[in-house]
Amino acid sequence: MPPSSASLLIRGGRLIDPASRIDTPADLLIEKGQVRRVGVALPAPAGVPILDATGLVVAPGFIDAHVHLREPGFEYKETIASGAAAAAAGGICAVAAMPNTNPPPDSGQRVAEAVARAAGAPVRVYQIGCITAGRKGQSLAPLEELARAGAIAFSDDGDPVEDEALMRQALELGRRLGIPLFPHEEVKALTAGGSMHEGQVSARLGVKGMPSAGEEQLIARDIELVRQTGGPLHLAHISTAGTVELVRRAKAEGLPVTCEVLTHHFILTDEEVDRQGTQAKMSPPLRSGADVQAMLQGLAEGVIDTIATDHAPHSAEEKSRPLTEAPFGIVGLETAVGLTLTHLVHHGVLSLAQAIEKWAWAPARILRLPGGHLSVGGLGDVTIIDPNREWTVDPTQFRSKSHNTPFRGAKLRGKAVATVVAGHLVYSELG
Ligand SMILES: [Zn+2]
Repeated sequence: MPPSSASLLIRGGRLIDPASRIDTPADLLIEKGQVRRVGVALPAPAGVPILDATGLVVAPGFIDAHVHLREPGFEYKETIASGAAAAAAGGICAVAAMPNTNPPPDSGQRVAEAVARAAGAPVRVYQIGCITAGRKGQSLAPLEELARAGAIAFSDDGDPVEDEALMRQALELGRRLGIPLFPHEEVKALTAGGSMHEGQVSARLGVKGMPSAGEEQLIARDIELVRQTGGPLHLAHISTAGTVELVRRAKAEGLPVTCEVLTHHFILTDEEVDRQGTQAKMSPPLRSGADVQAMLQGLAEGVIDTIATDHAPHSAEEKSRPLTEAPFGIVGLETAVGLTLTHLVHHGVLSLAQAIEKWAWAPARILRLPGGHLSVGGLGDVTIIDPNREWTVDPTQFRSKSHNTPFRGAKLRGKAVATVVAGHLVYSELG
């Protein structure tokens, strides 16, 4: 985050703060990086800059709990600086960085280094530590040491923890430390060699598929381990109707299980792979229309807690390889708000307040982060949204180093137009 805190008066907006059930026209005064006052026609203290938010929505800073910043090790795809700039431009005030860097943060020292590396970024960068040493799935990383160094969750994202005893131990430690496990759930034996969802489209294209069971089997196992250990489990990027049902039942049972969906999984189907090839290749893959419907239903019902991007930058050269050889993943930070507004809010799946809750208060609560709300004394992190701004996705305008997105040319309605972190205006399209 910015090295110092600042003051700012945001005037005339519609303030929506789901954590305190506020949705009203109000001004917001941030002083020294913290929310100081919320009210109508607040006077500006001397020397405090004023931001006119008339006609705009003022929301608690959005948190993207699932991004890949690629530094250290893969700086040709993204750096902390370029990824954080992309976040700011997308209205995201805080990101949680997944640990599949080289080297990965699997020791206290490496977590501390990762935290220090991101210290000057324009947005808050939280670090997710590894579950296993080297992300190899063979022995547990020193989770307590990682937590002490600042890890906010544990994941081997990109790879699963297939060893059941290890995952059980990790959940037990997670419970003791009060830190969630955030695993990538994939039975590699079922998905190996696959480039897309296993279904009618993969059959038609003659491409090896990744069956839904590859996700659901490991999630079912881990929910059983939660039942045994009581450890908190936050499921990354759920993508199948079967998974939504598993989470629905786990929650009904009162288990500490939460989950996220990625912006593309509630919009696109596997047909997109036929249309866009590697630009639509990701893991978990785009699924069937029925799975997309299940994501929308799960969001509306509240079975799905949070929305994230899984921002996964790759170079143009990597994505120009054949479908079977190109890496998995797409960028997402600069399209997240527009996709959410267009496909969830304007299509009537979620209210604006519910969408904001899933991007701010829910991730803060689940990952036990500061922020996510606009109560007095809270962080002065704000996402300012024009809910009706119409725009077209143009990846050449991205701050991200990478342009791999299946949403090139998409016409969206709703955009983050200003981003405030600790009272600093870190991005603005306002005059
Ligand atoms: Zn993953």
